[in-house]
Amino acid sequence: MAGASAARALAAAGLQPVVIEAERPGAGGSGFPIGLVTPRLDVGDADVAALYAQALERACQLYGDVENAVVARGVLQTPQAPRDVARFDRIAAQPIWPPDAMTILNPRQASDWLGEPMEEGGLLMAQALVVRPLAVLDAWLAGVDRRSGQVERLERAEEGWRLVAPGGEVIAEADIVILAGGGGRRRFWIGRAIPN
Ligand SMILES: Cc1cc2nc3c(=O)[nH]c(=O)nc-3n(C[C@H](O)[C@H](O)[C@H](O)COP(=O)(O)OP(=O)(O)OC[C@H]3O[C@@H](n4cnc5c(N)ncnc54)[C@H](O)[C@@H]3O)c2cc1C
Repeated sequence: MAGASAARALAAAGLQPVVIEAERPGAGGSGFPIGLVTPRLDVGDADVAALYAQALERACQLYGDVENAVVARGVLQTPQAPRDVARFDRIAAQPIWPPDAMTILNPRQASDWLGEPMEEGGLLMAQALVVRPLAVLDAWLAGVDRRSGQVERLERAEEGWRLVAPGGEVIAEADIVILAGGGGRRRFWIGRAIPN
């Protein structure tokens, strides 16, 4: 999703991204049939919280533009610990959300919203989405130059970078490289798989 998202944004800006994928789109964590699009909640730092709120709004716009991506709107988060009840109150009171975006539901309201009995209430995030990640990957990668290959390391090229496979063959050369390999990116430490 991170790679497809970067490719979408670069193509929208008039650039020509190349996506290099070791297996297939959705081979990693982004391949689940369903995903929740919820904001990271932060009650400590108002600026950071506002950034996440903006990110949610932008993400929901983009996912909403993808045909067949949105399965449902609204996510109810229930408390995972007793302290979450007060935390949800503080989150809902933050001035960063559009009106009605964050609502505290009591158990009866939560039951009505879900259509099944709930013993506890929670934080209803009205903007949040349930999406089909694979529909998003298909849409964002359509028309993008894609190559199969596992990047083993990066080397400096005359201008930019050379992306090298385990056998030593060059998969691509690029001016700018964005690492979006999910858990696989951990190998790309500077000084090891990336030269200083
Ligand atoms: C059980 C579970 C449920 C989750 N639920 C949610 C949820 O509801 N909502 C949510 O937002 N997040 C959820 N997450 C987290 C989410 O899945 C991940 O944060 C997200 O998918 C990561 O996306 P990514 O693009 O960074 O990485 P990935 O989706 O893992 O993609 C990385 C891609 O890079 C490729 N790759 C890796 N190394 C290389 C290499 N060297 N060369 C070439 N290609 C390479 C891989 O093949 C893969 O396709 C969940 C995670 C789990 C485990």
